[in-house]
Amino acid sequence: YQVPNWSGGWFRVSDKGQVEVTPTPGLHAPLRAIVDEIVDRGESLPVILRFPQVITGRVKHLNESFQAAIQEYGYTGHYQGVFPIKVNQRRMVVESVAAAGYDYAHGLEAGSKAELALCLAQKMHPDALLCCNGFKDDGFIKLALWGRTLGKNVVITIEKYSELDRILKQAKALGVRPAMGVRFKLHARGSGQWEESGGDQAKFGLNAYELLRVVERLREEDMLDTLVMLHTHIGSQITDIRRVKVAVREATQTYAGLIAAGAQLKYLNVGGGLGVDYDGSKTTFYASMNYTVREYAADIVYTVQEVCKARSVPEPVIVSESGRALTAHHAVLIMPVVDVTGPTRDLEDLAPAVETSHQIVKDMEDILSNITARNYRESYNDAVGDKQTLHNLFDLGYVTLTDRARGEALFNAILRKIAKLIQNEKYVPDELEDLQKVLADKFICNFSLFQSLPDNWAIQALFPIVPLDRLNEKPTRQATIVDITCDSDGKIEKFIDLRDVKATLPLHEPGDRPYYLGVFLMGAYQDVLGSAHNLFGKVSEAHVTVRPGGKYHIDLFVRGQKARRMIESMGYEEPMLRDAIEDQADAAIKAKTLTSEQEHELLEDYGEELLGYTYLEYEN
Ligand code: PLP
Repeated sequence: YQVPNWSGGWFRVSDKGQVEVTPTPGLHAPLRAIVDEIVDRGESLPVILRFPQVITGRVKHLNESFQAAIQEYGYTGHYQGVFPIKVNQRRMVVESVAAAGYDYAHGLEAGSKAELALCLAQKMHPDALLCCNGFKDDGFIKLALWGRTLGKNVVITIEKYSELDRILKQAKALGVRPAMGVRFKLHARGSGQWEESGGDQAKFGLNAYELLRVVERLREEDMLDTLVMLHTHIGSQITDIRRVKVAVREATQTYAGLIAAGAQLKYLNVGGGLGVDYDGSKTTFYASMNYTVREYAADIVYTVQEVCKARSVPEPVIVSESGRALTAHHAVLIMPVVDVTGPTRDLEDLAPAVETSHQIVKDMEDILSNITARNYRESYNDAVGDKQTLHNLFDLGYVTLTDRARGEALFNAILRKIAKLIQNEKYVPDELEDLQKVLADKFICNFSLFQSLPDNWAIQALFPIVPLDRLNEKPTRQATIVDITCDSDGKIEKFIDLRDVKATLPLHEPGDRPYYLGVFLMGAYQDVLGSAHNLFGKVSEAHVTVRPGGKYHIDLFVRGQKARRMIESMGYEEPMLRDAIEDQADAAIKAKTLTSEQEHELLEDYGEELLGYTYLEYEN
C-alpha cells in the first residue's frame, strides 16, 4: 500500500499491522481503535476522521520551510501564506489553519462573498493577509473595504481590468483607502491536471498591457500606494518543480517591471499549486510531485532573490496560497466493506455437470481440467469461444439456465487457473493483460463516491486506499471498489502504484470481524465538491486528537446529514411527506390491506427513516 511513500510521516503501519496516525514524533494512535470506539458508541459508518493536529503540523511545516530557506539565503523579506478556504471551508479546518497560522501571520483567501463573510469573522494576526480573489460585484468589494476598517489586512485582487474602476468608486463612496493586488496572466503554465489555469488563455488575470494601465490609472488618482500585491497562479497540484521555478522567475520579472513603472508593491503572491504526493512515486505523474515542501520553499526564495538582485529591486514579502498541501493529509474516510461479489466466488456452490448437461458445458469442464503452463493460451481462446457459443445457444433456447450458470462459473474458474499460472511470467500475451481486472472481486463499500471522493469520479484523482488493519497478513483477493449508489459510475478501478496505475487493489478476505478501508489524503476539495447523488448526504465526522502513550480523544462527533435534510434540500417539506403517507395508510385501512396497529408501526418506521443516516445502517 506504499504507506511510507505517500504518508509524509503523518501515518505509519505499526508492528501489529495497523495503520496509525502520527501527527508529531512520539504521538501515534491506531485508526481501527478509533473507529471501533465510534461503532461501540452506537454511531453508524461511514465516517470521516479528522485530525486537527495534522493540519497544525502542515501549517508549521510550510512556514518553517520558508523560514529555513529565507535564513539560508539571507533573504531580506519574509514569507506570509494565505489559506484559500475554497479548498475546505469546514469550520474545523479553517479554525485549525487560523489558529496554527496565527504566530506566522498566516492569512486567508476568499473567492466569493460568502467566503469573505466567513473569513472576516475569523480571529487573525493583524498583519495576516485576507486576499479577495475571484470575480466581484459591488457587494463583494464593499464587504472587503469594510474589512479594512475592522483592522484586517484585506487585499482585493483585481482579476480583470474593469474591476479597478468599481473598486475605486466603492472606496471613494465609503471613504476607505483600499489595498489592491493585481493578478497577472503568466505565460508560464503549471504541469498536471490544472495546467490550463495558467498561460495566455487563463480564465483570470490581466495581460502585460492591462497591468501597466492599472499603474497609470492609479498614478492619475494619486493612489499608487494602494497597489500592494502582484498575484499569480499557474494551477493546482503542480507536479514538476521546474514549472514552479519558471513561473516564479516570470512573476518576479513582472514584479520588477511594475516597480520600474512606479508601483510600490510589497507582496509577491505565487498562488497555489504546491502538490500532494498521492501515489508516493515522487514523479511528475499527475497524482504525484517531484519535489518536497522544503525544496518548493527553497526554490521560490532563491529564484525571487536572484531576479530581485539582478534587477536591483527590494525583495518582496513572498505569499503563497497553498491549500491542498495544508489540508489533504488531515482527513481519512473510513468505509466498511459490506459485501463482496465477483467472479472468484461462484463455482463451488454449483453442482457438477451431469449426463444431461449440454455438451458445451462438458467441453468447458474438459478445458478446466486440462489447462497447463504450455497450453493456457489455447485454453483461454477455447474458453472465450465456448462462452460465446454458450450465450448464443441460451438465446436460442438450447441451453438451460442451470447449464448457463454452470458454464459461466466454469469460464471464471478457467480464467482463475490461468491467472495463477501466469502470475510470475515476464511476458503475458496481449489478450491476457486484462485478466486481473476481469477476475477482480467487487468489494461493496458503504459510501458514495459522488459525495465523498468526487475528484475520483470527475478527474480520475487517485487516493491511497488501505485496510485499517491486518497489514501483517498477505492479502488474498484482487479487488475493485464499488459504492452503494445506484450508478454504475460509482466505482473505483484505479489505484496508486509506484510505476503505473493499478487496476485492482489487493485486499483481505473479510472475515467475521468488520473489514474497514481508509481512503487517505482526501481532506482537500473533496468535502466541498461532493454532491448528493441518490440523496446520500454528508458523512458523519469525528475530530480526534492524539495523546501520549498511543491514546487519543474524540473531541467532537458530528452526525452526518439525516434523510429528511436531504429530501428537504430538494424542495420537499417534511409535514407534507408525513401527511401523504398518512392519507395513503388511511386509504389502505379502508381497503383492508393494512390494520390500524400496522399503520402505527408503519408511520413510526417512516418517521425513523426520515431522521436516520442516509447510508446503510447495520445492527452492530
Ligand atoms: N489560489 C488560486 C487563485 C487558486 O485558483 C487555487 C486553486 O486552484 C489555489 C490558490 C489553491 O491551490 P492549491 O490547492 O493547489 O494550493
